[in-house]
Amino acid sequence: MPRIAVLPGDGIGPEVINEGLKVLNAIESKYGVDFQEDMYPFGGVAIDKTGDPYPAETQAACLKSDAVLLGAVGGPKWDSLPGSKRPEAGLLDLRKSMGVYANLRPAVLYGPLKDSSPLKPEIIGDGLDVLVIRELTGGIYFGQRGREMVEDGYRAYDTEVYSTHEIKRIAKVAFEAAMKRRKKVTSVDKANVLESSRLWRETVEEVAKDYPEVTLEHLYVDNASMQLIKNPHQFDVIVTGNMFGDILSDEVSMLTGSIGMLPSASLRDDKVGIYEPVHGSAPDIAGTRKANPLATILSVAMMLRYSFDMEDAARDIEKAVVSVLEKGYRTSDIMQEGMTLVSTVEMGDLVVKEIRG
Ligand code: NAD
Repeated sequence: MPRIAVLPGDGIGPEVINEGLKVLNAIESKYGVDFQEDMYPFGGVAIDKTGDPYPAETQAACLKSDAVLLGAVGGPKWDSLPGSKRPEAGLLDLRKSMGVYANLRPAVLYGPLKDSSPLKPEIIGDGLDVLVIRELTGGIYFGQRGREMVEDGYRAYDTEVYSTHEIKRIAKVAFEAAMKRRKKVTSVDKANVLESSRLWRETVEEVAKDYPEVTLEHLYVDNASMQLIKNPHQFDVIVTGNMFGDILSDEVSMLTGSIGMLPSASLRDDKVGIYEPVHGSAPDIAGTRKANPLATILSVAMMLRYSFDMEDAARDIEKAVVSVLEKGYRTSDIMQEGMTLVSTVEMGDLVVKEIRG
């Protein structure tokens, strides 16, 4: 039986994870499949229990699982701990131990929520659907760094490093994803300045030869950040390195105007992945029944798509979410005039009801 390690975490994490699991159970019944879902401590709650945000028991379970479903971690209670002992350090350790190198962040603005976008209606149109694929384990965040004394202070450096192997595997993820979408890949780099970007560009072009149906375009990162605001509909799949992806994925997310709606996946070659909402633990609304569970529910859809090859089930969830929004139900973060305000649990129930049909 496929195993899912569930890490609810802190703040609103457990609240949104409950709704994600409810939706997963509805899919299990509908499709006659069974997943073994087990919960493990992670983040602040794990620090309270064991002193470690990513305890050995949790790590062992994650490494044996086919997928990890994560809520969110962190909160004021643990903010004064030193960096390496904080809940957020657990996130980096989790990603590192699992060896996930491709971060997928779909930014979908659903039609019923189009007014939430900060872009003008004539630019955003009836919605948006862009997938940002960010390389997660290489580049400047992992290159050599240092600091040395010079006459009038310090000199510090960080190094952007990419190998053909690293670029090839992330490019493949992008082309495969594009084949299931609108068949366009935009590779973002800074090849007019950086040697690592020139290797990036050459390598992406090589990989593109295996995908003749997909249109490949290259953009410099400065131009890409402008084009996303000017004409976001020109993009389908964006693939880029770690630092550019860090920045662009947040920019694209904000075009949708709502952090409570954004799922993510971090994958490696064998389909094992970590699935989590983009948002944090939102301590300001924890326990108030206000958390929007849709980002987590949509992360469950990504898990079914990428780790378990259940494309129909993934689409069922996504359609159910659109349907609930079309019927006018909203959690407080996406509330609009004339709509019906619902709690975290009610939103989960509505999605389940749509899936059951
Ligand atoms: P946040 O994403 O938790 O919250 C930002 C704002 O968005 C808050 O006003 C919050 O109420 C709102 N919000 C977030 N998710 C929501 C949802 N599902 N429904 C409705 N409203 C929602 O970011 P923050 O406030 O900067 O960080 C809070 C804590 O979360 C910090 O400890 C931070 O380190 C941690 N964090 C964790 C992750 C993660 O676990 N992956 C990511 C980001 C931040």
